[in-house]
Amino acid sequence: MSSIAQPKTYLNYINGQWVSASTGEVEASINPAHKDEIVGYVQKSSLQDVNDAVAAAKQAQKAWKKLSGNARGEYLRKAADILESRIDEVATTATREMGKTFPETRGEAARGIAILRYYAGEGMRSIGDVIPSSDSEALMFTTRVPLGVVGAITPWNFPIAIPLWKVAPALVYGNTVVIKPASETAVTCALLMECFAEAGIPAGVINMVTGSGSVVGQGLVEHPDVNGITFTGSNSVGKQIGQAALARGAKYQLEMGGKNPVIVANDADLDLAVEATISGAFRSTGQKCTATSRVIVQSGVYEAFKAKLLEKTKEITVGDGMKPGIWMGPCSTEKQMQTVLNYINKGIEEGATLILGGKQLQEGEFAEGFYVEPTIFENVTSQMVIAQEEIFGPVLALMKVETIEEALQLANDVEFGLSASIFTTNIRKMLAFINEIDAGLVRINAESAGVELQAPFGGMKKSSSHSREQGRAAIEFFTSIKTIFVK
Ligand code: NDP
Repeated sequence: MSSIAQPKTYLNYINGQWVSASTGEVEASINPAHKDEIVGYVQKSSLQDVNDAVAAAKQAQKAWKKLSGNARGEYLRKAADILESRIDEVATTATREMGKTFPETRGEAARGIAILRYYAGEGMRSIGDVIPSSDSEALMFTTRVPLGVVGAITPWNFPIAIPLWKVAPALVYGNTVVIKPASETAVTCALLMECFAEAGIPAGVINMVTGSGSVVGQGLVEHPDVNGITFTGSNSVGKQIGQAALARGAKYQLEMGGKNPVIVANDADLDLAVEATISGAFRSTGQKCTATSRVIVQSGVYEAFKAKLLEKTKEITVGDGMKPGIWMGPCSTEKQMQTVLNYINKGIEEGATLILGGKQLQEGEFAEGFYVEPTIFENVTSQMVIAQEEIFGPVLALMKVETIEEALQLANDVEFGLSASIFTTNIRKMLAFINEIDAGLVRINAESAGVELQAPFGGMKKSSSHSREQGRAAIEFFTSIKTIFVK
């Protein structure tokens, strides 16, 4: 166990107050690099706490929506400055809660700050159009109004950026928010709430209730006063949320999994392709919805690509993400590690050839955490489970094809459609890829992971409920359009 101060207990944030859960119970957030180390205790809330938070958010929305967009944005700007002053603390907490390396969580926190500033500016941009009426004496235009109370249910893999890219646009467009963060990273979310509180945001405008998905998450989804639900996480939970929201007429937005392909063409820059494949597949221990999980390589460069890929992947240093020089941290939880190991066994059973890794790391310090070796399979066919299901771990499937047409067919042969990339120097292949690939994020000569906060983010097929987050696209979910006719 590493030497860290006594764990603190974090409270719910409701109506501008830090409060204990009505159950009186707390649960521990564990460091996946040192499973005996408790990062902090968070509240194990009940439906009563959800009801209190929603009531506060509903009350606060009356005044919040009357502020100008610029005035609302000012709170985001202040929260950004406070987060910036605490960036190392927040990044350290995120690394200790979910395992990815400190440079990665620090980069994520920097992105969070940029997200807050971007949406602060959004409060001053256009929210409607003037449309010529067929009546020459009338003025017709659109404006946008907030949904009301928004429930945000967030995952553990981006514990800073995802909460912020949901909360910031929700707030700036005049909604109030109740957030339920993933239990694994609830302490990090509490630190984000501290930034909003310190920024002086009015009571009830943002609220956090921690606790289980099945109680707090579901309670939010089913609450009659929650007008919109924005969710990122697994497909199975997303589907339930979508159905429950639809049943009571609430607006919903789901961002879910991916099975993202990279195509490496015969004319690709192989060094670039190898570097991007490794970064896409193994950064964050493969726990990104945009992670690379299948590499489809044309036969002309297959052996050369494979040799370079193996050589470079063997150089990955695995360990505690807080240690300098570590490139890949542990899986975020023991359950996640078991899921990954089960998929690796499934791949072996199905007849894929394991060419690197495949095992849990358990020697010495590794015994303290949830570590899996960077793992590569070849001879993977599209029917195999490891070629179809999201693994969310450091596991890569290599597939060999003759033609680009075959590569595209394989790339699209999954239920997901989040992100996809191709490595080629041929413009014809690039254009074919842009036209044919089923993916919301299309990347040319760049890794499948990687999003920019000012651009729309989201997937096709089962990867999302077809709405988009981030950039200006966020306005579509967090507002409703009013069409106005003045005579
Ligand atoms: P979940 O979908 O279970 O969790 C995501 C969020 O939903 C968490 O805040 C969770 O709360 C909450 N939740 C869980 N059950 C419900 C419910 N019934 N109603 C409302 N909210 C609920 O994902 P997991 O963390 O269990 O990860 C499982 C798999 O999901 C991963 O292996 C990966 O494949 C995928 N995933 C995809 C992500 C993405 O970025 N697209 C992110 C995370 C996971 P709590 O934490 O308390 O359970």
